Amino acid sequence: MEPYRIKAVEPLPRTTRPQREAALRRVHYNLFDLRAEEVTIDLLTDSGTGALSAGQLAAAMAGDESYAGSASFHRFRDAVEELTSYPHILPVHQGRAAERILFSTLAGPGRLTLSNTHFDTTRANVELAGGEARDLPCPQSRDLDGPGPFKGNIDIEALRAVLDGPEASRVALVLMTVTNNGCGGQPVSMANLAETAAVCRRHGVPLFLDAARFAENAWLVTRREDGHRGRTPRQVAQEAFRLADGCLMSAKKDGIVHVGGFLGLRDSALAQRCELLLIATEGFPTYGGLAGRDLDMMALGLAEALDPGYLASREQAAGHLAGRARAAGVGIVEPPGLHAIYLDAGRLLRHIPAHRFPGQALACQLYLEGGIRSVELGSLYLGREDEQGEPVISAPYELVRLALPRRVYTRGHLDHVGDVLARIAGDVLARIAGDPGSVPGYRITEQAPVLRHFRVRLQPVPVGATTSRPSGSSRYWASSHSAGG
Ligand SMILES: *Cc1c(COP(=O)(O)O)cnc(C)c1O
Repeated sequence: MEPYRIKAVEPLPRTTRPQREAALRRVHYNLFDLRAEEVTIDLLTDSGTGALSAGQLAAAMAGDESYAGSASFHRFRDAVEELTSYPHILPVHQGRAAERILFSTLAGPGRLTLSNTHFDTTRANVELAGGEARDLPCPQSRDLDGPGPFKGNIDIEALRAVLDGPEASRVALVLMTVTNNGCGGQPVSMANLAETAAVCRRHGVPLFLDAARFAENAWLVTRREDGHRGRTPRQVAQEAFRLADGCLMSAKKDGIVHVGGFLGLRDSALAQRCELLLIATEGFPTYGGLAGRDLDMMALGLAEALDPGYLASREQAAGHLAGRARAAGVGIVEPPGLHAIYLDAGRLLRHIPAHRFPGQALACQLYLEGGIRSVELGSLYLGREDEQGEPVISAPYELVRLALPRRVYTRGHLDHVGDVLARIAGDVLARIAGDPGSVPGYRITEQAPVLRHFRVRLQPVPVGATTSRPSGSSRYWASSHSAGG
């Protein structure tokens, strides 16, 4: 069971089906453009959407808002140093600010960063700094149904090959994303992390953690990796941070705060250079773009996220939703992690070809049937079409992500999602058999040249029952990034 009870509640927005139909038409079938009060269960992202604890709210009241040297900063710094072992902790307003500061200091023009998978803002900040971001996910990450316990790992052989090859001198740093958000939220094993650290040390290349979900990764290590069962998530997390030379942190995930992050560094000279940028662009180093109360809430959130009872209930919640999806006949990315369930829309809505976006069709059905907001991670996100709307690049899998905000939804809410999935997989599929046009595909009417899914406009188009989907290359899934957190 959840290791907390509820002290403050917020009514869920309720809508009628005609209202939801009108809302979808108004936003041109782009769920990012819905107003939040039109959404009953919001599974768009787990970023900054968690519930604060009574302890965090109390700490917020005790926050010290001094411009420099605030007590809040010192409490925050001590807590983060104890967890990470890094002597230099630079607070920032969110993860991507830490990315910008680190990469513009360390990974300039011509430099190369290597990662198990760069998150989308991470890649963008490497490229903005003039560098090149290269993903080296392990081969198992490409197998959607595979049972691998650590499909988020980096491909060690590929890493060695780059560091032993002609490009070695270009490598600025290696970045391990835990858990691997771009690869279905799959975890990284301690063995893989330790081996990566050894390879990096041998080549004199710094290793950083993109630690947004460090606690969830640590939990899955204690559950799945020999030699770590029976350890606490805190012990595993501490060891993970100690294997690296620093970290980038978006505390909107496992910091369980609405905004916040930090850059942790071992190297004093590097910290000094980063601090200059911090002062110029985020704020004085004892607040870094945050209020004192934010620092106190973050310090506490980082500790609460490591509570084994909380992590166990989060794993059970994700497992419960995964079980409901499987029981409804909806395939998912296996095995489920903690922060999200990824539905295989391509297999469910076989009558919709990739360039008519079966993932978006399922996301729209989830909203229509149950007021549930999710995000498409398929060909709308990764694909490209020509002027006539014919496919040029398709995603290898047509996925829909149901992200799970921390401490927000109960089993009852997840059962509502399960019921809606079952209804879609039952009624709707029966309807499709009689009349394929009843669950339409979508055509793009307007799009931006990059990150098109955020601002895209769509129009429903009927699709035939017999259209087959072109199968894409798995390389594309491997180099994919997830959306907005
Ligand atoms: C969310 C996220 C980021 C970016 O952090 P923001 O706080 O959204 O700026 C970076 N890396 C990973 C793995 C993330 O999940």
